[in-house]
Amino acid sequence: MPGSGIAYFDFCDNYDALKIAASLRAGLTALGLDKSIKNGDQVLLKPNLIMGKDPQLAVTTHPEIVRAVAMVLSDCGARLSLGDSPGFGSLDGVLEKCGLKPVISEFAITVVPFIDEKVVVDTENLVAKRLTLAAAALEFDKIVNLPKLKTHSMMGSTLAVKNLFGCVPGLKKAAWHLRAGHDRHFFARIIFDIYKHVAPVWNFLDGITGMEGDGPTSGTPRNFNLLALSAAAPVLDCLVEKWLGFPEPTPLSLEAESLGLLPETGFFACGPAADKPPDLPIQQAQGAAAATFPGQRLWRRIFVKRPKISRSRCHLCRVCVQHCPAQVMKLVDAKIVIDYKRCIRCYCCQELCPYGAIRVGFGIGS
Ligand code: SF4
Ligand code: SF4
Repeated sequence: MPGSGIAYFDFCDNYDALKIAASLRAGLTALGLDKSIKNGDQVLLKPNLIMGKDPQLAVTTHPEIVRAVAMVLSDCGARLSLGDSPGFGSLDGVLEKCGLKPVISEFAITVVPFIDEKVVVDTENLVAKRLTLAAAALEFDKIVNLPKLKTHSMMGSTLAVKNLFGCVPGLKKAAWHLRAGHDRHFFARIIFDIYKHVAPVWNFLDGITGMEGDGPTSGTPRNFNLLALSAAAPVLDCLVEKWLGFPEPTPLSLEAESLGLLPETGFFACGPAADKPPDLPIQQAQGAAAATFPGQRLWRRIFVKRPKISRSRCHLCRVCVQHCPAQVMKLVDAKIVIDYKRCIRCYCCQELCPYGAIRVGFGIGS
């Protein structure tokens, strides 16, 4: 597993690429990372491009973050590529909707859709002894991880480590969701198996405008005015969760601790924003608190939140039906019906619904 490190937190209240680049340079110097990418390095940028959405909705990494990072890396002499595996839709279409095309052409960034696969066989992995990843995520000299700060219905938050789940190509993601079911700790171990093999050299978090509530796609944008940098993704995540005032560590932070990926003694961020968390606590996603309730069937029905479809918002596009890992959704009589007996509460449907028509909440059902 990659080692630990500390983080640099800075304030930034708008998406001015020059300001963001200055903050990144300051963070790299403060953390001693300014020589970690060299002239001629082939660098893969990994933003959060879960789906094609307007940057103002705070679903995806903002294009000005990518622009700022491209400025800094171009100064280092790096050769830049950018890749991801969106939840649905082509990477090209997602780049267009997310406003990234101008940045890509300005910096001549090579776009690498995560289609070609490579199988990693590692019997030391926690869960995924055989792990199919995007070949690009394994082949570049260096990866720069550009996560978005968001709450997450299943995992509590999506920050640097969770962003690497996007290195699993296409429908293979659904297979892992199906295996994990609603066991958040099992899912966390899968993600750390990915992290072991795809360890970014920089993790630069876009927390200027993040998302609270029903993240990662249906929540509310909120200005946190935070930029956070670290060479160690789990350390960055843990410190960001504390900074945000999470009432308890998420499964990913707990797993990071049990794997020894966090420093043993007190560790903290440096930088202007390190000691100034937001005044108001972050609103957690609806599903996060109860998704791990150990459950007999009745308890599960009552205590584990379930996806609910708003008929007034639903466009009957069937994206949820096509991507439900357990295949328990179908279109019947002009409405989407869920077989709650077989629903594994992975909330992929809520994550991928392009119209925000799925909420997660309590309800008695089968
Ligand atoms: S993805 Fe959303 S809008 Fe599309 S069918 Fe499912 S609930 Fe309706
Ligand atoms: S209905 Fe939604 S929460 Fe249930 S298994 Fe399908 S995608 Fe997961």
